This record gives sequence, C-alpha cells and structure tokens, in this order.
Amino acid sequence: MQQETNGQQVRPTDLPSGADSDLAVSVSGLEKSYDRLKVLKGIDFAAGRGSVSSIIGASGSGKSTLLRCMNLLERPQAGKLEIAGEEIRFHGAGRSIDPRQVSRLRRRVAMVFQQFALWPHLTVLGNVVEVPVHVQGISRKEATEKAMAYLERVGMAAKADEYPNFLSGGQQQRVGIARALATDPEVLLFDEPTSALDPELVGEVLAVIRGLAEEGRTMILVTHEMRFARDVSSQVAFLHQGQVEEIGTPEQVFENPRSERCQQFLSHVM
Ligand code: ADP
Ligand code: MG
Repeated sequence: MQQETNGQQVRPTDLPSGADSDLAVSVSGLEKSYDRLKVLKGIDFAAGRGSVSSIIGASGSGKSTLLRCMNLLERPQAGKLEIAGEEIRFHGAGRSIDPRQVSRLRRRVAMVFQQFALWPHLTVLGNVVEVPVHVQGISRKEATEKAMAYLERVGMAAKADEYPNFLSGGQQQRVGIARALATDPEVLLFDEPTSALDPELVGEVLAVIRGLAEEGRTMILVTHEMRFARDVSSQVAFLHQGQVEEIGTPEQVFENPRSERCQQFLSHVM
C-alpha cells in the first residue's frame, strides 16, 4: 500500500464547476437575512442540465426567497451561486457584485410568478416581446416571430392582441410562461405557478409545464401540487426553516422520507 508522503489530504473534488459542468445550477452555503431575520441558513443545492427539481415546504420556509436569490431579485449575504457557468460569490452587504455578471446571470434565468406579473398596458404579444426587444436588443421582427411560436406552444397565439385583464388566470399564466421562454433562458424558475388559479384552471398550466419538462428544459419549481411534483421531477428538496431538510428522488422524498419534519409536512398536504 502506498503511503501519503507529504501528509496532505487530497480533497475530494467539490461539485464540478465551469462551462464543462453537467450542472445548470449549483448553490452552496447560501445565506439570506432580512434585517435580523435569517431566512436562508446555508442552502446547498444543485440541479443538472435538463433536470426538473421541485422545492416543497411549509409557508415561510424560504422557498420564494431561494428562487429569488437564484436570479438575484434578492441579494444573498453569503455563499456561492453558479448558474450556467456564471459564478457569483457573496460576501456580506458591503462588497458589490459586478453588474455585468448580474445581467449575464439574469439573461440565463427566467422566472414565472405566482401572480403572473404581466404588464396590463401591453397586449399578450407585447408582454412576450418586451424583454427581447427592449432589454436584449433583438429586432422586433425576429422577436415577434419567436413570440408567436412560443404563444403557439402554450396555446395562446389566438389571443396575441388581447390585453391580460381580459384573460382567465390560466391563460394569463400561460402567457407568463411564453414570456419566460422568449428570453431563451437556460434555467426556468417557477414560484407556485398555479397557486393563484381557480382549481379548474390548474390543469392547463400544469400541462404546459409538463411539456417543457419532457423537452428537457432545466426547471426549478416551487409547488404545492405534490402529485405533479412527484410525476415530473428528477429531484425534490424539502425546505424547513431556511435549510434543505431532505433532498432526493421523488420516490425517496414522497414515499420514504427520512426526516420526521418532512414526514409530518407530507402527511398534512398529501
Ligand atoms: P415561502 O416562499 O417558503 O413561503 P418566503 O421565502 O416567502 O417563504 O419567506 C421566508 C421568510 O422570509 C418568511 O418569514 C417571510 O416573512 C420572510 N420574508 C420574505 N420576504 C421578505 C422581505 N422582503 N422582507 C422581510 N421578510 C421577508
Ligand atoms: Mg413563496
């Protein structure tokens, strides 16, 4: 047997990083506080390219904050975030982050919100072309062609000239998804995309999300639709008070959770 000669331990490689990585998202030691309230207490989480991850947990456990940190709608105070090869380290509130890095990261990540967050003064088509034209500088002609293709994809092309307020919640959310797709993101974040919908409208939105999952898009989904999460996810993370309390395949987490808190949570929601 060969002896270690210099006494130095060979460290196991951490999660792979950089452009060669098979990971689309990697979060480590992520911390976020609001004033003195610590909401994320050192989150470690990784998602492979083309995978679907569901994040579950009680209200207030930090699910939205985690998603919002991933596209820098919130600024974490500590930890590391790596998305599509863009790596950002956080060191307290004092040090600023390179704004070019922020805009590169935001370009690779798109979010679908619980309350749709469509612009009411723009038509459906206007909502979908707004960011590609005004932020990404894509020609209106090209953006319109792509927008129509995505509206087709979510079954909303016929409503391109309508205003959001004339649409049902399910239709508005499908436009929200088309808008997210229109920026060609590498990662799609969904924050309870069906929670604001009447029950009879949930299915049409889940069907669109399921289709995207089958296309192999990288998605991170905060949801209370447990059966759906079990169906479409490659992994499920259960958050409890700002920490990943349990993570694993849907079978592991839903059928055989190790954590008692996860068992309790599931017994209430399933
Ligand atoms: P979840 O999405 O799991 O319900 P959130 O991430 O929304 O949880 O919230 C986690 C905790 O952080 C809650 O206690 C919430 O009140 C608090 N919180 C969220 N956003 C803010 C904010 N902007 N300012 C202060 N506290 C916040
Ligand atoms: Mg939330």
